[in-house]
Amino acid sequence: MPPLPTAHSTEIHHAAHLLEAGKLVAIPTETVYGLAANALSSSAVAEIFRVKNRPTFDPLIVHLAETQDLEKYVQQVPPLAYVLARAFWPGPLTLVLPRRALIPDLVTAGLPTVGIRVPRHPLTRALLQRLDFPLAAPSANPFGYVSPTTADHVRQQLGDKIDFILDGGPCEVGLESTIIAFEKEKPRVLRLGGIALEALQEVVGMVEVQSHSSSQPQAPGMLSSHYAPGPPVVLIESRDEIALYQEKTPPSQIGFIGFQASSPLLPALHQHILSPSGHLSEAAARLFAALRALDQPDIRLILAEVFPEVGLGRAINDRLRRAAAKRT
Ligand code: AMP
Ligand code: MG
Repeated sequence: MPPLPTAHSTEIHHAAHLLEAGKLVAIPTETVYGLAANALSSSAVAEIFRVKNRPTFDPLIVHLAETQDLEKYVQQVPPLAYVLARAFWPGPLTLVLPRRALIPDLVTAGLPTVGIRVPRHPLTRALLQRLDFPLAAPSANPFGYVSPTTADHVRQQLGDKIDFILDGGPCEVGLESTIIAFEKEKPRVLRLGGIALEALQEVVGMVEVQSHSSSQPQAPGMLSSHYAPGPPVVLIESRDEIALYQEKTPPSQIGFIGFQASSPLLPALHQHILSPSGHLSEAAARLFAALRALDQPDIRLILAEVFPEVGLGRAINDRLRRAAAKRT
C-alpha cells in the first residue's frame, strides 16, 4: 500500500465525493490523465462517452485499487495473467479478460471481455482505495486527439465539461498502457504502450503483437488514425527529407519532433527534441506535450523523426504513425 499523500487528502476526498455521486473526475495516472467514472454505473459511464464524444463501440479500461480485487470483476483468469499482474501491477499494463456480469455493457462495448489494470500513481491509488467501486477511465481528451499528460492539458480541452481535475503533476510514463489479450491462455499484445515488449518477453517469453487497422474496431485503441493533433503529421526516416518539405512549406511553419538532436534546417522555436541524452523513456514522457505544443495556427506541418524500434521506441513510433494516419 503506498503512503497516503496527506497533502492532497482534501482533493482526494472531493474527488471521491463527486465519483460517488455519479460525476466525472479527471485523474492522474502514470500513463496519461484519465476521465473517470464509477465503472459499475451505466449512467455515470455514459457521461464519459458524451463528454469525450467517444463512439460507444470503443471499450473503456477499468482501474482497480489492488490486484487481489481482480476476480470480483473478471473470471477464467489464465495463469499467465497472474504472472503478468505480479510483474507489472501497479503499472501501465492492461489485461483483457472475460468479464463478470456486474461490469456494464457500455464499459466493454458489449464485448464479453473487459480491459483491466491497477495504476500506480499515488493519488489515484489513494482515491481507488477510498472508493467501493472501480473506475472506468479512458484518456481525458476529446476522442481521436492527443492524450493529456498534465492537468493543464485536461483543463484546456475539457475544463468546462467536467466537475473536477485531480492534479497529480506531469505523467511519469506519458504513453497509454500496453494492452494484452489472451487467446487460449496465450498472451498477445493488442496495443503497444508503457511496458516495453522486451520487458514483457522477459517475463512470459515470446509475445505476438497484433497489427492494428481501422477494419478491426474490436479494439479501437487500435484504430489507425488516433492520437492526432490539428496540423498534418509526417514521419521521416531520414533528416535529409526535411529539405524536400521546405520546398513547399516555409521553415517557420514546420514543426519538428526529434529524438536527440535538432535540425539546422529549421528554426529552433518549433523544434521539440525529446531526449538529448538518448533515453526513450524520457522521450515517451515528452511526446504528447510536444504534439500539443505544435498544434497551433502558425504550424502547417509537423515532421517527426522515426524513433529506434526498440523498448518504448516501438510505442512512440506507433503513436506517431497513427497521428500521421489519414483521417477518414
Ligand atoms: P484509452 O483508455 O482511451 O487508452 O482506450 C482504451 C482502449 O483499451 C480501447 O480503445 C481498446 O483498444 C482497449 N480495450 C479496452 N477494453 C477492451 C476489450 N474488452 N477488448 C479489447 N480491447 C479493449
Ligand atoms: Mg484515448
